[in-house]
Parts: sequence; C-alpha cells; structure tokens
Amino acid sequence: MASYDVVVIGAGIIGTIIARELTRYRLKVAILERANDVSMGATKANSAIVHGGYAEPKTTLRGRLCYPGRKQFKRLNEELNFGFRETGSLVVVSEDDTASLQALFEQGVANGLTDLSIIGADEIRRMEPALSPDIKWALHCRGAGVCSPYEMAIALAENAVANGARLQLDEEVVRIAKQKNGFVVTTGPSQYQTRYVINTAGIHADRIAQMVGLDDFKIIPRSGAYILFVRGTGDPINNIIFQLPTSQSKGVVLTSTYHGNLMIGPDAADQEDREDTSTQIERVAAIYQSCQRLYPDMDPGKFLRSFAGIRAKSTTDDFIIEETSVPGFINVAGIQSPGLTAAPAIADLVLDILENAGLELNKDPDFNPNRRPIITRQPLLPYPEIEHLVDIPPSKEKIICRCEQVTEGEIVDALHRGIPVQSIDGAKRRTRASMGWCQGGFCHPRIAEVMERESGKSIDPLFDIEHSGVNRVGKSELKDYLDGLCGSPLGGQKTNK
Ligand SMILES: Cc1cc2nc3c(=O)[nH]c(=O)nc-3n(C[C@H](O)[C@H](O)[C@H](O)COP(=O)(O)OP(=O)(O)OC[C@H]3O[C@@H](n4cnc5c(N)ncnc54)[C@H](O)[C@@H]3O)c2cc1C
Repeated sequence: MASYDVVVIGAGIIGTIIARELTRYRLKVAILERANDVSMGATKANSAIVHGGYAEPKTTLRGRLCYPGRKQFKRLNEELNFGFRETGSLVVVSEDDTASLQALFEQGVANGLTDLSIIGADEIRRMEPALSPDIKWALHCRGAGVCSPYEMAIALAENAVANGARLQLDEEVVRIAKQKNGFVVTTGPSQYQTRYVINTAGIHADRIAQMVGLDDFKIIPRSGAYILFVRGTGDPINNIIFQLPTSQSKGVVLTSTYHGNLMIGPDAADQEDREDTSTQIERVAAIYQSCQRLYPDMDPGKFLRSFAGIRAKSTTDDFIIEETSVPGFINVAGIQSPGLTAAPAIADLVLDILENAGLELNKDPDFNPNRRPIITRQPLLPYPEIEHLVDIPPSKEKIICRCEQVTEGEIVDALHRGIPVQSIDGAKRRTRASMGWCQGGFCHPRIAEVMERESGKSIDPLFDIEHSGVNRVGKSELKDYLDGLCGSPLGGQKTNK
C-alpha cells in the first residue's frame, strides 16, 4: 500500500491549492479525486470573481479570509499563468440607498480594506457608460477582479504534480479507517496509508467527515444559475457590477469573464440533489430581467448557454476549517462563496493547522513555483485572417476551433502536462476549444482526432454532450418565454436607456 504524509480528498480549487502549497516542503502528498478531471465541482461553475472582501463580517472566517486571499492573486497568477485581471467592482443602487452601501463600506474597512469608496452618478457614468442612468450610487472596490477558476485549479494541480504530488483521478473515497498513527483511505481500486487527511470534498464534505464518525455539520446544496453570452459581449462592462446582497447570496452580478464573455447570475435556490446542475426557465428569465434593468443594451441574440453551479453551504453558514476531534483529520468544509477568493488564505491556514498538529514543514529546495500558460487572453482575429489555417494537414498552427481560434499546438500542449485529459470537456477547459458560438459542432470531431492520435485511446466526440444528462435552458426557450411575458419579440427588444 502506498504511504503518504498527507492525503487530500477532492481536487477543486481548495484541494489543489493546499496540495500545491504542501509541495513546497519535503512531504509525500496525494490528491484523490472521484471525477475524471480536476475542477469538476463548484470550482468550474461560479462567478469567477476575486471578491473585494467587504461582503462578510470579520466575525466569520468568510469575512476574515477573503481579503488576505484576494491579495495573493496577483503573485499566484504571475507564477502560474491561469488568468487574473484586477477590474474593480461596483455595488450599484438606483435609489438614494447610501445607507446600505455605507454599511458595506464600514464592514470592508473593518476587514482591513483600503481601496473602497462610495461614488455618485457622474463617476459611475464615466466608468460604466453602458449602464442604466437610473443608477445613482455605488460602492467601488478598486482591487476586486476576475479570474478563470477552472484554469486556476488546473494550473495548481499541474504545478503540484510537477513538484512531486500524486494526483489520482477517477478514484472516489469510499472508506476511511483510523489507525494508531494515521489513516487508511480506501477508494474503489486502491488503498492509501497517510498520517493526515484533508477533507476538501465540496458538496460531499459532510459524507467524508461521517466516514471517521464526525456528524457535527451537514452540507445544504444551494444552486446558482447563470447566462453566458458570446466572447466580446463583456467588453462594454469594465467593473464587476453587483446589486445589493440578499440574505441568500451576494445578489445577481453582471460581469465580463476573464476572456471577455458577458456573464449574468447567479440566483440562489436550495435543493435536495447535490449533483443537479440543470437550469429552469423561470429562474433564467428572472436573472435576465434583473440585469436588463442595469444594462438595457444587453443583446439577447448573443446568448451562448445557461449553466448552474452548486454552493456547498454548511449548517454553520461559515467555512469550517479545523483539525477535528479525530487527530490528523482536517475538515475544510462549507466552502461557499467567497471560497475561490479566500483559497490562498485557506491554504495558509491549513498549513498552520497541520504544523500545529505535528507535521514537520521542511522546505524542499527543488520546489518550482512556476507553470507556463497553455493559452493567453488575446483578441480574436477577423476570420479571413485565419481561414487558410483551418483545412491544412496536422501541424502546430492548424486551427482546430474556429470560434475561439484554438490551434492544434495548444491542444497537444494541454494533453501533455502530467494530468490525464480524458474527455473533450477536459481539452475545452484548458484551451477554450468549443467554448464559442458553435459550441463544438465544428471542432468536437477534430479535437477527438487529435486526442486519439496523442493518447492512442478512442474518444467519442459525443460522449460529453450525451452523458451530461442535464437539462439547460437554451437561447430559443428564453426568447419564447420572454416574448410570452412581454408580448413583444425579444429579438428586436431594446429598452430605452
Ligand atoms: C454559484 C456559485 C458562485 C460562486 N461565485 C464565487 C465567486 O465569484 N468568487 C468566489 O470567491 N467564490 C465563489 N463561489 C465559491 C467557490 O466556487 C467555492 O468556494 C469553491 O469553488 C469551492 O472549492 P472546493 O474545492 O471546496 O469544492 P469543489 O470545487 O466542489 O471541489 C470538491 C471536489 O471534491 C471531489 N469529491 C467529492 N467527493 C469525493 C470523494 N468521495 N472522493 C474523491 N473526491 C471527491 C469533487 O468531485 C470535487 O472535484 C461560488 C460558488 C458557486 C456555486
């Protein structure tokens, strides 16, 4: 049986960043992930916002860890090249509701922020000319930003593996046995001996804790739906645009993703099912309508897809990060928003907990913090400039995905980085191939061909589509629904500014 100092359960942003930080030291580290890739839980479907750190009070871990996490993104991105941009954020109000903004401002200052201000209509108009003139006031946070969360988890995992960690995909932890000096962790095919276990299993963290007899919290899945628009639609929006937070979430957001897609959402709905990421028309339409009030020129014709992510809210309503009453078993659970932002600070805290629990942290002089990018953010070229690269024989320059202008060289690079890429979706998350207008209609068979050639294994280009088994509201369904509500065709809809 393989033996480790630390076994991390779950390869989302939290598991991968903790594992990567552990590889700075002379330690044997394994990450066990039940899915066929890293970043398959909440980490791949969220708002991708690196939050300012004013939205939660300092009486909570969520409030205390957000800003220290945010401050590390610039350095992490310089090392790992996953995509991060400081855009700034605005919490906007249409009424003279400055009291709510003032409360958030004061909470932010109490959390240590130094880059907050409340601004009026003229300054908002200068920063965001595309937004509705009805907006009167806003809380501006200069250092908030956007990142590409799944690229970040992939980068962290690649860097952890390059520094000696073992990543085991397709292995669901099903049993954990406490022993005198550690644990035996059992997955379907294998067993792992380890001194410490870190539970970063997201929406399943309560079930993992129950495996060692801990039953002091439950996870309440809370879904959040989004609409994503085609690339370039985010360009008129400069900051992340928040509405006032609700009791359930930070409210529906209007944002340009790291790669320039307009994205609106999420709403919030508790649900029984931990895996159901389907979207429902009433919810998607409500998101659309709530953002149209802020951004009247939003073009529904550029709708790309809807999707949903599931928050792992705990019954304590806060992050749970502690060594438990089972010595050596550490919970990192209930990591709902702002878990992505707080991730670097969560990793720091977990390393402190491990050290206090007796783990020796001796620096590994061979640790290399750097990882080169697979893709970088670039404007798309006019199609005639790349057309001649589409039907050429296999080569580095050949364009495989026309919509996102992804080359064969980029796909081949993504496949050979120490983490098995086992599906077309895996190649998509690394390169953006098939994230464009045609959603894979053109490039899925071409990606499959490259993957088959490189791996020698057969890839079904329809596998990801057919087996996702999830109902998602499409463009025409939204259009028909809104037409029905308004009695006017959505396609031509333009509300007065
Ligand atoms: C709708 C929504 C919007 C959000 N927006 C933001 C935002 O803008 N900014 C921000 O900072 N945060 C945001 N968050 C929060 C953020 O996404 C999460 O805090 C973060 O992704 C949690 O990461 P994680 O690693 O804990 O969980 P996950 O990413 O869910 O990873 C857990 C992993 O554990 C694996 N696993 C589960 N059970 C087992 C098992 N038995 N064996 C092996 N592996 C297992 C899963 O497959 C999964 O890969 C948002 C979350 C949601 C859902």
